[in-house]
Amino acid sequence: MSLIVMKFGGTSVADIKKIKNVANIVSQEAQKNKIIVVVSAMAGVTNKMENYIKDINSDHNLENDLILTSGENVTIGLLSAILKDIGIHSLPLLGWQVPILTDSEHQKAKILNIDKNRINSFLENYDVIVLAGFQGINLDGHITSLGRGGSDTTAVAIASALKAERCDIYTDVEGVYSTDPNIVPQAKKISKLAYEEMLEMSSTGAKVLHTRSVELAMKNNLTLQVLSSMIKKNGTFIVDEQKLIEKEIVSGVSYSKNESKVSLSGIPDKPGLSAKIFGLLASKNINVDMIVQNISQDGISANITFTVPNNDINFTKKILENNKNEINYNSLKTDEKVSKISVIGMGMMSQTGVAQKMFKTLGNNSINILAISTSEIKISVLIDEKYTNVAVKALHEAYNL
Ligand code: ADP
Ligand code: ASP
Ligand code: MG
Repeated sequence: MSLIVMKFGGTSVADIKKIKNVANIVSQEAQKNKIIVVVSAMAGVTNKMENYIKDINSDHNLENDLILTSGENVTIGLLSAILKDIGIHSLPLLGWQVPILTDSEHQKAKILNIDKNRINSFLENYDVIVLAGFQGINLDGHITSLGRGGSDTTAVAIASALKAERCDIYTDVEGVYSTDPNIVPQAKKISKLAYEEMLEMSSTGAKVLHTRSVELAMKNNLTLQVLSSMIKKNGTFIVDEQKLIEKEIVSGVSYSKNESKVSLSGIPDKPGLSAKIFGLLASKNINVDMIVQNISQDGISANITFTVPNNDINFTKKILENNKNEINYNSLKTDEKVSKISVIGMGMMSQTGVAQKMFKTLGNNSINILAISTSEIKISVLIDEKYTNVAVKALHEAYNL
């Protein structure tokens, strides 16, 4: 018998009727294979937990992760009970019971190890294991969470560790689309995507897969399928680049409103200053993304603009203010109402004019570009958040997606 990992996201387990639908899908697959099902919390539950934490303004990591991961405890209980009622020999497991060992970076913990022997022995005795996504345990025995959307990563990590035959990610859309189908209804389902493209799409905002899950799948050469839990048909396969028949110049457009812009002006134009600023932020685990530096009109001082995730903006401001004398800047400005729009495609590597088309399209729509960053297969621009939908739709059309 082969091992299949099936992951169901929040909208697929949003109520009892939907959990019963999941139980049916699982039971069909369990006729032929051993199954590990990874589930998220019911839709909206983790948001609710996050709001409780905000309400009490808690910065207590141990408690916060206990609260955040609680939703998954409920869904594994419900699904496993329903599976038993339809005659499936099922075992519900929390992350710590496996154990899924993580580092101690609460709210963005990385999986360090999964006890394969233990889970294999469970698999010998049960037909289906129902595993809570998004959670693990650190070396000190405290519960950790993997970051929002992290159940995908639990599924890929367990599939990789146990060399599963397949890892299917069931969700509320039929696969990965050329852009978010909830913004552009004309978006097209993509049948096959390279890991690299999916990685760029996820890391630039396409939340259909957790970025780290794609990284892990790529590292382990594990084929992923993203498919619907409501309609039975093939979804999108995320595969090795070699398996792509045609490399699209642009396969997708993604957006992220989770960006904040920081501008430092009037800093001395001398060697080592960027290293100082970004070294300070890196030492506090703040992920800086886009960076633009320019010399001011006097030719003596410079301005630096960069972006950080919204969650880190207050902390970033505090660090920069605390080090004002050392950095020696004139003014510090921040803007949370910005959005990053990206176009992604493997074929971009060997094609010119892709960036120009992007800039021209935005210009034609009177959208100003605040910063630009590129990789071999991606171009990202920062724009005013209020133009997000207009920009995504216009680019989707411009590249004939
Ligand atoms: P789940 O709860 O199943 O994990 P998510 O909400 O995390 O589901 O991810 C699915 C959602 O991702 C879709 O409903 C869609 O709005 C969004 N999404 C963003 N970009 C894309 C894309 N390019 N293709 C498909 N879905 C996308
Ligand atoms: N329940 C968690 C979240 O909402 C994890 C997940 O759904 O993947 O972020
Ligand atoms: Mg998700």
